Amino acid sequence: MIVLPAIVYYLYFCVAFNGGDLIPGRRADWHGFLGAIRPTFGALAAYLAWVVFQALLFLALPGRTVEGLPLKDGSRLRYRLNGLAALLVTLVALGAVQAAGVFSLTWIHDQFGALLSVITLFSFAFALFTYYWGRAYPGESPRGRGDFLTDYFLGTALNPRLPHVTGFDLKFFFESRPGLVGWVVVDLALAATQVERHGTLTLSMALVVSLQVLYVISYFWSEQGVLSMIDIRTENFGWMLIYGDTALVPMVYSLQAFYLIDHVPVLPSWIAALVLVLFFTGFYIFRAANAQKHRFRRDPQACRVWGRPAAYLMTSRGTLLLISGLWGLARHPNYLGDWLIAISWSLPTLFGSVVPYFYPLWMTALLLNRERRDDHWCEEKYGSDWQRYRERVPWRIVPRIY
Ligand code: NDP
Repeated sequence: MIVLPAIVYYLYFCVAFNGGDLIPGRRADWHGFLGAIRPTFGALAAYLAWVVFQALLFLALPGRTVEGLPLKDGSRLRYRLNGLAALLVTLVALGAVQAAGVFSLTWIHDQFGALLSVITLFSFAFALFTYYWGRAYPGESPRGRGDFLTDYFLGTALNPRLPHVTGFDLKFFFESRPGLVGWVVVDLALAATQVERHGTLTLSMALVVSLQVLYVISYFWSEQGVLSMIDIRTENFGWMLIYGDTALVPMVYSLQAFYLIDHVPVLPSWIAALVLVLFFTGFYIFRAANAQKHRFRRDPQACRVWGRPAAYLMTSRGTLLLISGLWGLARHPNYLGDWLIAISWSLPTLFGSVVPYFYPLWMTALLLNRERRDDHWCEEKYGSDWQRYRERVPWRIVPRIY
C-alpha cells in the first residue's frame, strides 16, 4: 500500500519530468513534479463528477439483466450489463463538450499529477468506507481475517451493495466503469496532447491507443463473462482491488501512450507488423480461452471445442473441469493471451527506455501471483480432484515451458 503508489508516482515522474528515462538525469525536474502532484480542487471536482457521471450511466442506461454465479448459500445476485452503452455515451458526451469548446481533452494530461493524487487519496478513503461497510454487512461471505491491515487491504465483503443485497453493486461498478472507461479517455487525452504539441499523430500512438480501446470494447462486449472472474466471485472488495481499478488501470495502463507523446516519431514497419501479430495472437488466445470456459460452464453437454464434444474431468464437488481446447494445453491459457497483448502495447515505444515496459512486467508479476493463488484456492476447493487435473494438464500458463 506504500510501495505500489510510490512506484506509480515515480513512473509519472519518469514520463512527464525525466524525459521518459528510468534513472533521474540532467533532464530531471523534481520541482515541476512536486508541483504537479499537488491535489487541486479542480482535479477533485473533475474526478468526483466523473465517478458520479459513470454511476448515473450505470444506473440509468438500459441493458440485459443477468444472474451472477451462485454464492455459497446458493443464491445469485443480479447484474445489469450496460458497459458498452456507458462507454459509447461517454465518448459521445466527451466529443460534444470538446466540440463545443467547453472542455479540452488535453486538460487531463496537464492535470495528470493532480488527478493521480486525488485518485490515490480517494482509493484509500473509499477502501476505509468499504472496510466498515463490509464489517457492518458481512452478508453471504464473512471472510475478514481479523487484523485491520489485512482486512483493509483484502476487504471485508465479497459483494458490497448500497443498500445491502438489492442496491448499487460497488465492486461490479468500480471493476470497470470509472477505471476502464477512464483508461480510454486518458489514452485519447494523451493522443490529443501529442497532436497539439507536434501537429501529428504517430503510428506508434495510433497503434497503442486503438489496440487498447479494442481491448476495452471486447471487455464490455463480453461483460457477462466478467461475472466469473476471480475478482468478482472470489476476492473481497478491499484496497487491493480498489487501487487497481481506480488508479492503476487509467493512470498506469496508459503509460505507453504518455511516453509516446514526445517519442518514436517513426516506427519501423516490421515492428508495426510484429505488434499486430502479437496483439491478435494474444487476443485470440485470451478471447478463445475465456469463451471456451464460459460456454462449457453454461452447458457442458452441448459444448463443442475445436469441432469435438468437450472433454472434462468430473469432480466430487459436482463441478466439471474442461480439458479440451486451450484448457487441455495449460491450466491458465487465458493468462498467456493477456501477457502477449501486454507486450504488443509496449513494443511501439521501441527500446529507448524500460519505463513503458512497466505494464508487461507488472502483468508478469500479477498473472504469476494470480495463477498461484487460484491454484491454491482450487486445491482447497477440489482436493484430490485438482491433483488429478494437474496430472492431466501439467502446464500452468505456457505449454511445455511453464
Ligand atoms: P479465470 O477466468 O481463469 O478463472 C479461474 C477459475 O476458473 C478457477 O478458480 C476455477 O473456478 C475455474 N477453472 C479453472 N480451471 C478450469 C477448467 N479447466 N475448466 C473449467 N473451469 C475452470 O481467472 P481470472 O478471473 O484471473 O481471469 C479472467 C481473465 O481476466 C483472464 O483472461 C485474465 O488474463 C484477465 N485479467 C486481466 C487483468 C488485467 O489487468 N488486464 C487482471 C486480471 C485478470 P471454479 O472451478 O470454482 O469455477
